[in-house]
Amino acid sequence: MTTTIPSKSTALRTHTCGELNASHAGQTVTLSGWTDVKRNHGGVLFINLRDLYGVTQVVANPGSPVFKTAEEAKSEYVLRVTGKVSLRPGANANKNMPTGEIEIEASEITILNASQPLPFELGEHAGVSEETRLKYRFLDLRRPRMAKNMVLRSRLSQVVRNYLYGLDFNEIETPLLTRSTPEGARDFVVPSRNNPGEFYALPQSPQQFKQVLMMSGMDRYFQLARNFRDEELRSDRQPEHTQIDLEMSFVDEQDIARVVEGMMKAVFAYIGEEISGPFPEMEYSDVMLKYGSDKPDLRYSLEIKDCSEIFKASGFKVFSEALAGSGVVRAIKGEKAAVFSRKDMDNLTDLVKARGAKGLVWLRFKDGKFESPTLKFMTEPELAALKDLLAVAEGDAVFIAADKAAVAAPCLGALRTELISRLKPAQEKKRAFLWVRHFPLLEKDPESPNWTFTHNPFTAPLPGEEGKLDTDPGNVLSCQYDLVLNGVELGSGSVRNHSRAMQEKIFGLMGYDKEQVQRRFGMIVNSLDLGAPPHGGIGIGYDRLIGLICGTDSIRDVIAFPKTTSGACLMSDAPSVIDDKQLKELHLKITD
Ligand code: ASP
Repeated sequence: MTTTIPSKSTALRTHTCGELNASHAGQTVTLSGWTDVKRNHGGVLFINLRDLYGVTQVVANPGSPVFKTAEEAKSEYVLRVTGKVSLRPGANANKNMPTGEIEIEASEITILNASQPLPFELGEHAGVSEETRLKYRFLDLRRPRMAKNMVLRSRLSQVVRNYLYGLDFNEIETPLLTRSTPEGARDFVVPSRNNPGEFYALPQSPQQFKQVLMMSGMDRYFQLARNFRDEELRSDRQPEHTQIDLEMSFVDEQDIARVVEGMMKAVFAYIGEEISGPFPEMEYSDVMLKYGSDKPDLRYSLEIKDCSEIFKASGFKVFSEALAGSGVVRAIKGEKAAVFSRKDMDNLTDLVKARGAKGLVWLRFKDGKFESPTLKFMTEPELAALKDLLAVAEGDAVFIAADKAAVAAPCLGALRTELISRLKPAQEKKRAFLWVRHFPLLEKDPESPNWTFTHNPFTAPLPGEEGKLDTDPGNVLSCQYDLVLNGVELGSGSVRNHSRAMQEKIFGLMGYDKEQVQRRFGMIVNSLDLGAPPHGGIGIGYDRLIGLICGTDSIRDVIAFPKTTSGACLMSDAPSVIDDKQLKELHLKITD
């Protein structure tokens, strides 16, 4: 059977508003779209007719039978226009408009629908609050910038799918009504009418199902999966987000990395950018030491340096006490930051104090020497060594943190980000990908005496680290990796435990006894016993990826119907109360 793919020509149009040019001159065409802008030039009416694909100029001459209807058409009226394509006289051609060589001399105009005056102008430059944009999202999506984001998102899903299908991945849907898999956030729950007092959880990720699919022998799974996490919202977080979720059997970390790098290459090739792999990779411990963050923006090379050795015999109490308490002294240079005022320095000090530091030591290098309120506590040899280590030049400033490594690292990491945003150093590359590998498997749970997972409870210890589970659980390295792009955590994944004994041991350290493991994770631990292959995977934040590609800081700009920071959908008015009958059916009672 042969099928013809229908063109965009339909019952109500022969062409779109974006496709006509000089080659169509003389043809009679029908377009349908919205009245974008209407102008009256010496009695002649010009209507810019708009659809998703572009804008075409329609002309209605006085005295023509369409003139009256053209006069009636107001902003956002939906029209169908038939007419002849004619070349615009040379001087009137508009080179900035893809259809700017032609216009339609209307012989028939039908108003398909009228529109009330809009609550806001669609013009790209009209300042409209986000609240209004979200309330009238369907109007907001008519704006070319937003429409472009939506179309690009759709096209890139196709690129991702084609790429993964090309590697024999199978796209498999997993349930939305399920039971909770911990991913570090609260669950959204759905009451079960048929099972009084019982609840489904919306998945924080398809984690357990995708692992079970490997145990089913599916070998390679992917899904553009919706994940639900009830956590504090920010510009790059939504209560539901989309993830390119994948899992593979018989792989190690490097196999998964190569698949993801190929995917990034395909995605960026679609927008004309060449990305080459393999991406650089760093150990988690190194990345924290050098950049003070597990998602450093490596478009900039600015590095933190350890200067504990320089100050090991320091008489400065701030340094000597930190070092005596098995802490560290670390520094970062601000190029040309000697112009920072005392007030700037105070603000930077507040920034690190908010992250637990007791203070911040700073020095400016001016006229060939250091100046600082704490200069007297440092010796000439120490200052000379510091200058060498950081390659300090005229006009630079140095910032030093002395504390436990766990405090100094994030403080200097935050300072690094702030220095980049204030000093705007030249970007060394446009896209800086990085694999951060071998995170600690466990960390202390702040709410109990137990250990908890740092990323994912199913992550395997790094081969060779297993022995430390008994002696030093906090220092066990794991097969957990993150993919970072330009300072944004784009994805996270791991090689998983495929032996029941290891998985149970790790759950044990997290404080779960056998009965709890069975109750909460029975599905996975039982299948680990029945021939589970070695496997691993990753989840890549699709909204964040598209946000980076579209050049927006807010993922709300790349999601058709996003929620506000308080989790509301202003268009549909969700969440909302439900009536008493529904509550009763669900066996629920609302208390104060
Ligand atoms: N389930 C993880 C997440 O959603 C991703 C993974 O480990 O594959 O972050």
